[in-house]
Amino acid sequence: MKKEFAVIGLGRFGSSICRALVEKGMEVLAIDIDEDRVNAFSNIASHAVMADTTDEKTLKELGIRNFDHVIVAIGDNIQASILTSLILKELGVKHITVKAQNDYHEKVLSKIGADRVIHPERDMGKRIAHQIVSNNVLDALELSDKHSVIEVIANKRMDGNTLVELDVRAKYGCNIIGMKRGEEIIVSPKADFQIREGDLLIVIGANNDIERFERQLLDDE
Ligand code: ATP
Repeated sequence: MKKEFAVIGLGRFGSSICRALVEKGMEVLAIDIDEDRVNAFSNIASHAVMADTTDEKTLKELGIRNFDHVIVAIGDNIQASILTSLILKELGVKHITVKAQNDYHEKVLSKIGADRVIHPERDMGKRIAHQIVSNNVLDALELSDKHSVIEVIANKRMDGNTLVELDVRAKYGCNIIGMKRGEEIIVSPKADFQIREGDLLIVIGANNDIERFERQLLDDE
């Protein structure tokens, strides 16, 4: 059965989530207190309704507890975001994802029991900063406070080395879990795989190990 989603708040972030879910073929109910924003989604989402989600009765009438996943993307109005999340939780919505505006907001949402709290501006800022300061790092994804996955471009120093010769697992405690060469994707490359300059390497590890890997293998060319 198709999963059913509801997106509350159709600002830039909520709109983007809503469009992406529709593109993936999901059923999406788009909700906003602002009539113009709702109208803009009437032809995009499966359904679009104007509602104030801080009103419990309204949420009940929308049958919100039957949705598989509700995304709360109310931005500036932190009070409305918290109250909406609290009501969703009390109504027994299975999965709630909420966009936090700042660290205090995030803390309250976690206490309320939101299943996932996201902080897109902060997280994207961290990723971009990582790319800016680290040579050859294309992207970095934090798995937790302590672990990440990074995408790096193999440099001259790595060129011609096999994975055994580089020995990143023993030397840096990281694992190369995938590679991309041109259009070719290699999942779990074998130990005798020979790296070429320009290959894209996907590396997983503890953050301090990844930092060592970046410092010693990617810097000071
Ligand atoms: P973004 O960074 O995603 O652009 P934004 O600044 O656009 O965020 P806001 O405009 O603050 O975010 O809020 C997102 C949407 O949430 C707005 O369209 C707003 O009308 C809607 N919204 C605010 N309060 C409520 C509410 N109580 N019920 C339903 N929708 C609400």
